[in-house]
Amino acid sequence: MAKRSYYDVLGVGQDASTEQIKKAFRRIARETHPDTNPGDADAEAQFREAAEAYEVLSDTDRRSRYDRGDTVDLGDLFSGLGGIDDLLRSVFGDGGLFGSRSRAQRGRDVLVRVEVDLFEAAFGGEAVAEYDTRSNCAVCDGSGAEPGADIHTCPDCGGAGQVRVQQRSLLGTMMSVQTCPTCRGEGSLISESCHECAGSGSVADHMSVSVEIPAGVSTGTRLRLGGRGESGGRQGPPGDLFVEVSVRPDERFRRSESDLYHAASIGIAEATLGTRLDVPLIEGDTMSLEVPAGTQPSTTFRIRGRGMTVLGRRVRGDLLVVVDVEIPTKVTVEEEDLLRNWAELRDERIDRPAQT
Ligand SMILES: [Zn+2]
Ligand SMILES: [Zn+2]
Repeated sequence: MAKRSYYDVLGVGQDASTEQIKKAFRRIARETHPDTNPGDADAEAQFREAAEAYEVLSDTDRRSRYDRGDTVDLGDLFSGLGGIDDLLRSVFGDGGLFGSRSRAQRGRDVLVRVEVDLFEAAFGGEAVAEYDTRSNCAVCDGSGAEPGADIHTCPDCGGAGQVRVQQRSLLGTMMSVQTCPTCRGEGSLISESCHECAGSGSVADHMSVSVEIPAGVSTGTRLRLGGRGESGGRQGPPGDLFVEVSVRPDERFRRSESDLYHAASIGIAEATLGTRLDVPLIEGDTMSLEVPAGTQPSTTFRIRGRGMTVLGRRVRGDLLVVVDVEIPTKVTVEEEDLLRNWAELRDERIDRPAQT
């Protein structure tokens, strides 16, 4: 059987607006989500098909590629690492498909710092984020139930995780909503808790995740990796991983936004008569910079396009070379002779006896 078009899957026309596509997906997702239809393989297949269609048609760029007949890479939508949960969160809000039911507690976000050098910050690279976290328990697959144990809906709250209670006060009888004490808000009861995770659905874990560092990051830049945070346990969606970049200082350069400053120093004769400087470049090689005769102290030379990459763009800032003129603090007798001759020629007054 030929694969249905994404438009047919969602039951919308080719000219449907983004809002219509979102509405159609919401309706199908509510009806077919595996949580609403446990064990129903047809519903799950429909749900996946709709999620795939939505993932493509909700993105202008992907949609136009699909319309042209190009293949559209969906990355790790179904890899289980938050792709679907991210998708549902974006469509239904933070509460997910069923609103803020206490059962589906989202896992905590994790913040990890990685250090990169200036070269990696300028051109991008790869870093490894290592962190302690909680992952879904492999024994019970996150359900918290011992394999073979019976999971049933909590009879006291009917699976809602919340109960209404009557309270008497001076003002009369009031109704309030409380977390169900029987299932502690889980909505379900398990006949035997998983021996590995004691029923929590998650276990302590150590993660090592390779992180792509985009060109142009600076200290404090945060990268978000959806779904790589702590497991929500008991089928709650995982939290996100935030990777905060710290750029190691480089003694050759000082950074200001996308510009780099390099400090160089030349002698009096070089400044007066002109010279050439080998300026280090972030790429690793050097560049010859012409310093003209008569260069004054603290003169800045701008080398365009040799600074840092601007984050998210292909352009680069500039490299600014600040040239200082070094005045000797000690001279030899021979150097002093030359300087005294020089002073005489230029009518400069030296107010100190000569070295002997
Ligand atoms: Zn377990
Ligand atoms: Zn309950």
